[in-house]
Amino acid sequence: MKNKIIPFSPPDISRKEIKEVIKTLKSGWLTTGPKTKEFEKEISDYCNTEKTLCLNSATACLELLLKLFKFDKNDEIITTPYTYCSTPNSILHTGAKIVFVDIKKDDFNIDPFQLKKAITKKTKAVISVDIGGYPVDYDEINEILEENKKKFKPKKKSLQEYLDKPIFISDAAHSFGATYKNKKIGGISDFTIFSFHATKNLTTGEGGALTYNSFSDIDCEYIYQQLKLLSLHGQSKDAYAKLKTGAWKYSVDLAGYKYNLTDIASSIGLAQLKRYDKEIISKRKALFEFYKNQFINDYRFIIPQYKNNLKESSYHLFQLRINNINEKARDLIIEKMAKINISLNVHFIPIIMQPVYQKLGYDIKDYPNTYNMYKNEISLPIYSKMNKNDAKYVADRLKKII
Ligand SMILES: *Cc1c(COP(=O)(O)O)cnc(C)c1O
Repeated sequence: MKNKIIPFSPPDISRKEIKEVIKTLKSGWLTTGPKTKEFEKEISDYCNTEKTLCLNSATACLELLLKLFKFDKNDEIITTPYTYCSTPNSILHTGAKIVFVDIKKDDFNIDPFQLKKAITKKTKAVISVDIGGYPVDYDEINEILEENKKKFKPKKKSLQEYLDKPIFISDAAHSFGATYKNKKIGGISDFTIFSFHATKNLTTGEGGALTYNSFSDIDCEYIYQQLKLLSLHGQSKDAYAKLKTGAWKYSVDLAGYKYNLTDIASSIGLAQLKRYDKEIISKRKALFEFYKNQFINDYRFIIPQYKNNLKESSYHLFQLRINNINEKARDLIIEKMAKINISLNVHFIPIIMQPVYQKLGYDIKDYPNTYNMYKNEISLPIYSKMNKNDAKYVADRLKKII
């Protein structure tokens, strides 16, 4: 019998996305314009937030946000070592010191108890990550920041002056559609960042969004305008505003970046968003539950956390862990599965095990929970076009190989 080919997470593009893209291509407007505005509004409606800004990646959203608050080498920003490089790299670009806080013993998210101990008077922001789509302990993190208000010292002559505590940024690259206390992720932290990269639950090929509400006397519209300016060369008018006959003049107010999202990408996103709950997230959930039932009564496996009375995952990853194995054995399992054409992954190699962070002096030995969760983790294929037979096949083969 020939082996089936099981990819890891191909995108789910239907005729609806293709139709939307063709419409945009025919409209004569390709770069940032009406479709991106519409996509931003739909995301705000979905996440129930005052404002959304779409840019060409989640990383772009994070970088510009950190830029806006003028964080620099005198500041400390707390995050988790259990994440993709985008999160800490964005902090490195500001010059601020990265303070890594270990994750919990039994899920992949930052440990609020250890976070509390890591806050100093230099702490300016906390960036948590909803790994696999499973929300972090939002209430606990908000409370800890609230309790530490007295320590906070904002930099003069910057947006920080409007703050009375470190900002809470949620890297929710994985958790679009996940819920916390029955509310969609997006407005629970001060700022939330979503990724629409090709491998994420909802995709525009490349793309990202920042969602937030007005807070601490900072108007959400002001932040939006400032970030727009930074995202388009610091130019006062975008291409769409200049389109109006006679409106050719513009000024460049600061040295900005070029991070805008195209209307082509936004039209893919609009079609994805219409299908998201019914055709995408629900199918991922059904597969997740199916996998769970394949492994739950087998002592060799540890099922990832995905739901409790406070939160529910967006079912982005199925992060299975194998009992009593080391890194080497885990890698061998992945290799053997690859030989029969089943693609597995590891989310993530802890960022402090990467050369760039090792050179900065970080050591995985200081983060035992991160290492223990990583060493025996295997992410199984999960995508909305996958069927249960494929999932059964993956589970059976994995058990046999182990
Ligand atoms: C994918 C990802 C990002 C970056 O998203 P981009 O849109 O590619 O910039 C950030 N954080 C995490 C945890 C991710 O998985």
